Amino acid sequence: MPLILDRATAGAFIGGGIALLAWRLGSLSTSGALAATLVGAAAVTAGWSWAALLILYFVSSTALSRFRAAEKEARTRSVIAKGGARDATQVAANGGIFAASALLAIAGSHELAPMMSFAGLGALAAAAADTWATEIGTLSGGTPRSLLTWRAVCPGTSGAVSVVGSMAMVAGAAFVAGAGILLRLDGSFAIVAVAGVAGALADSLLGATLQERRWCSTCERVTERRVHACGAHTVLCGGFAWLDNDLVNLLATIVGAAVASLLASL
Ligand SMILES: [Zn+2]
Repeated sequence: MPLILDRATAGAFIGGGIALLAWRLGSLSTSGALAATLVGAAAVTAGWSWAALLILYFVSSTALSRFRAAEKEARTRSVIAKGGARDATQVAANGGIFAASALLAIAGSHELAPMMSFAGLGALAAAAADTWATEIGTLSGGTPRSLLTWRAVCPGTSGAVSVVGSMAMVAGAAFVAGAGILLRLDGSFAIVAVAGVAGALADSLLGATLQERRWCSTCERVTERRVHACGAHTVLCGGFAWLDNDLVNLLATIVGAAVASLLASL
């Protein structure tokens, strides 16, 4: 037990250091940095492979978010609910299931540990697939279409898919699956990649159907924002008001974790 406490303390320092750097760079808000410290501590407690996987995910996602950020913001500013620094809710939505899997992998039985490794990898693969699809898809310039109606929609619209975005989705899932293999975590490249894509597809499907959609009557545009870029208050025009983008992201990582551990148990 003292060993675990040692690891948790070391994890809090390492996670805190990286979160502080990300906060300084403007990638995490203050609450986001605190949440990221907890996720990092959980990963280091579970083992260095878990920590290295989380760092690879975090660095790649942050780099992609910052890549031509001004251009992406100009394209999606009036549509997406949150831009810029990630807050605690966003960090928890993307990393919460991974952190829980990491803790269960060390706290649980020997039979549970490999299953939790698959779950953690699946959750992170889903988060990466969604982030890569969003960050690269927004830049691609192709016409994003609603996954449900196949009609053209504005870049940044939840549930919108494009050819480049879909390729980026697969690449993001494969990145985490490959990193898991290189770091010798319990997992299979195929299962983790499939789980990641399944999670990201669930994200797009929920985004196109049940996720909250709002309407700005001043600009006559659909948005996720409660107060639009123009300053006007928006009204609910579709989906459930309680099902926002963060909750959809959390559900996507749950799908990723569930698909990975189910396939692993077959
Ligand atoms: Zn407006």
